[in-house]
Amino acid sequence: VEQNPGECEFHQAVKEVLDSLKLVIDANEEEYRTIGLLERLVEPERVISFRVPWVDDKGQVQVNKGYRVQFNSAIGPYKGGLRFHPSVNQGILKFLGFEQIFKNSLTGLPIGGGKGGSNFDPKGKSDREVMAFCQSFMTELSKYIGADQDVPAGDIGVGAREIGFLYGQYKRITGLYEGVLTGKGLTYGGSLVRTQATGYGLVYILDEMLKNHNQTLEGKTVVVSGSGNVAIYATEKVQQLGGKVVALSDSDGYVYDPNGIQLDIVKEIKEVRRGRIKEYAEQVESAVYTEGKGIWTVPCDIALPCATQNELDLNDAKALKENGCIAVAEGANMPTTREATDYLLENGVLFMPGKAANAGGVATSALEMSQNSQRLSWTAEEVDEKLKGIMKDIYQKTSDAAKRYGVEGNYVIGANIAGFEKVVDAMKAQGIV
Ligand code: NDP
Repeated sequence: VEQNPGECEFHQAVKEVLDSLKLVIDANEEEYRTIGLLERLVEPERVISFRVPWVDDKGQVQVNKGYRVQFNSAIGPYKGGLRFHPSVNQGILKFLGFEQIFKNSLTGLPIGGGKGGSNFDPKGKSDREVMAFCQSFMTELSKYIGADQDVPAGDIGVGAREIGFLYGQYKRITGLYEGVLTGKGLTYGGSLVRTQATGYGLVYILDEMLKNHNQTLEGKTVVVSGSGNVAIYATEKVQQLGGKVVALSDSDGYVYDPNGIQLDIVKEIKEVRRGRIKEYAEQVESAVYTEGKGIWTVPCDIALPCATQNELDLNDAKALKENGCIAVAEGANMPTTREATDYLLENGVLFMPGKAANAGGVATSALEMSQNSQRLSWTAEEVDEKLKGIMKDIYQKTSDAAKRYGVEGNYVIGANIAGFEKVVDAMKAQGIV
């Protein structure tokens, strides 16, 4: 804490991981101490921070902060998204980069952990302003990334439009047409199903968890927070598997539609118009919009937090339990506070943590990297099958690791241990670096 002042989300993520690794750490304490394993694990290999100047539509110069945290490359090139949101700071990106190490390890694919972004807010900006920002951001970032070095992707505030502008500038500066970013458009090296992958993967692993507890999604009422990329495609897959999503949100408020969310309308509002979730209630008679937080008071069988970190606190967890919620799976990164997670686990609510539950996005990004390297494109069916297989495998590894350490059904501990083991093995083999 003293060495990383003010980085509270980073402290929170490290504490959660180290606490849940206690059994493994205790068993190997001396060895880990001798090789400084934990000290190296919590220190990023590199943090790059830079100035991003750009000119807005009024001709005024704006300056934002840009970052790339290259956290751990033990098992592959750094891989992790870029986040553009006013709340972004070094501590948040370090928490995300740290989580990413274990998530990427869990996918079974050769990708290390990284994360980056800026405090730039794409909301309310013109396309030209977003392009000017992205070009300036990439002008600096391009010095530190590459297809075999560091491969960023999207995250909050970075979707297809931003990835396109970033890719164009990378190519212009380096002259390389290579898989340096994932989440690209289909006409320039993108993979089918990448857009859907995080949301779909979340529901695949949820389904797997439910089946292992003699439940299915059929007929279940589901609440999904957020209304961005992850939330939209989680909703789509829940609906395909027979569940009913009754609420979605954004940072202003939430909509409740007892008849079930009509996703085509949400997609039109969010993906075409870049509007607010409130507009759904203006268009759909059965829907009600409520300003502010409060989505977790909507009664449901299953809750899927898909917006941002620490959006589901202890009171929310209590409300969910009281209303009969049986399962929570995290689409976002660390959306559930530590107290809320502990409460849910202690009260018998099935809980799948983000590093396992939302790994489908980065896994499919790794599949995009493979296709780029081979200069091939797989069909949607091929990618979706692989994604399904990967999510099933993550469930199995997570569940097995929990069992091995005598905490069956605790997927928080299971995911951390399973992700940790592979990284530790690779770090040990590569010496003190
Ligand atoms: P988007 O930008 O597409 O959507 C984010 C959604 O969350 C928006 O509805 C946004 O509302 C809401 N949101 C963001 N910040 C806040 C906040 N502070 N309070 C309340 N709501 C907020 O991002 P994604 O869907 O891509 O990402 C959502 C989460 O999933 C993040 O935690 C991300 O790290 C995680 N994730 C994403 C992956 C991906 O492939 N995209 C992969 C793995 C994890 P508003 O419009 O009001 O800001």
